[in-house]
Amino acid sequence: MTSISSATRDILKKHGYHMAGSHGAVKTCLWLNKSMRNDGGCYKSKFYGMTSHRCIQMTPTLVCNHRCLHCWRAVEVPVALPDQWDLPIDIVKSCLIEQRRLISGYGGSEFMDRTKWKEAFEPRHVAISLSGEPTLYPYLPEMIEEFHTKGMTTFVVTNGTNPEMVGKLKPTQLYISLNAPDKETYQKACSPLADTWDNIKQSLEIMNGSETRTAVRITLTKGVNMDAPEGYARLIGLAEPDYVELKSYMHLGFSRNRLSRDSMPSYQEVLDFSKKVAEALGYCIADSSESSRVVLLSKDGKKTDIV
Ligand code: SF4
Repeated sequence: MTSISSATRDILKKHGYHMAGSHGAVKTCLWLNKSMRNDGGCYKSKFYGMTSHRCIQMTPTLVCNHRCLHCWRAVEVPVALPDQWDLPIDIVKSCLIEQRRLISGYGGSEFMDRTKWKEAFEPRHVAISLSGEPTLYPYLPEMIEEFHTKGMTTFVVTNGTNPEMVGKLKPTQLYISLNAPDKETYQKACSPLADTWDNIKQSLEIMNGSETRTAVRITLTKGVNMDAPEGYARLIGLAEPDYVELKSYMHLGFSRNRLSRDSMPSYQEVLDFSKKVAEALGYCIADSSESSRVVLLSKDGKKTDIV
């Protein structure tokens, strides 16, 4: 059974989403296309050695308990929890089928590097970060394990509202999105459906004991959450993550109905803010990508590839 109405499915289809099972989704990102054309890779390829044309961008659920201003999805159109959850093995299988279906559509282009196009049919990475909050899928640990048994690496991005699940996750790299330095800004930036601010702090503490690689990601939006670097540093300090990524909000998808183009900080503004957070936290700048307007911090200014 699915909770996704046919009207919502039509919107998702129009925006390039393919359903994976009855409640998951896959969508190719811009960088997969660019990588197959030898036109560059995403910042994760620069920071962590991922291969952009061999990466799946997916979510096991489109349901989310936040309505972030910066979100690209239509947060105004709620998606209800399904009556029944698909099994991890079925979501993974469906994901791979849909990814290959999406890639086959690029085959006719004369600009495509045929070797890379063929490689793309055998993905090696999964970014579980498309839309929706993945920890709301009760079998997320098992789904991650299913991808690992196929020899794939996994990046999971959670909003941190479900600390119990965060404690069970062992992806290749675990992210918590932290989009506010304090509760008041959190309410404004994320419009949570319940009071989940303390849950996020708890998740950050749990992350501190994680056996896997960890990262805190901040999406910076001018006029919304680009203040109080010391506040961010205090919260990030709870997690002591391996990495901190500070990136600019991008004026894309449905967020264009909520924010103006001017809400996007420039690369220089992201860099300046990152330096303040780094100083307050005692971290160093490890890398940056000007085209993606993102800065990477680590404890010693170094970074390690995932493979
Ligand atoms: S937590 Fe993620 S999916 Fe949910 S509203 Fe915010 S940006 Fe969108």
